[in-house]
Amino acid sequence: MKLVIDESRCKGCNLCVLVCPYTIFQEGTKPNRRGIVVPVLDRPERCTNCRLQALYGRTLCGVCQMICPDQAIHWKEEEPYEAHRVEVEY
Ligand code: SF4
Ligand code: SF4
Repeated sequence: MKLVIDESRCKGCNLCVLVCPYTIFQEGTKPNRRGIVVPVLDRPERCTNCRLQALYGRTLCGVCQMICPDQAIHWKEEEPYEAHRVEVEY
């Protein structure tokens, strides 16, 4: 699972920054096209829900999603890994 902030919904209130026990949400620094400073994610793979939802079949922790007043936080399935050719130039 991958943690996602929907920038089109986020209003930059930073409530998610306050509640995450792993400080995955960090205050953003740059306004986006709408002038909203959206939080940034620090190593979101550490999120309890990202790691364990598939195993237990339900949302774990999920406090950020619960507190977000604009329903801007969700998780999405990650694409299966696709091998692709990498060329290294010397
Ligand atoms: S709580 Fe929701 S609206 Fe507020 S900054 Fe976080 S993602 Fe954006
Ligand atoms: S589900 Fe919990 S651990 Fe994961 S990002 Fe949200 S608040 Fe942090």
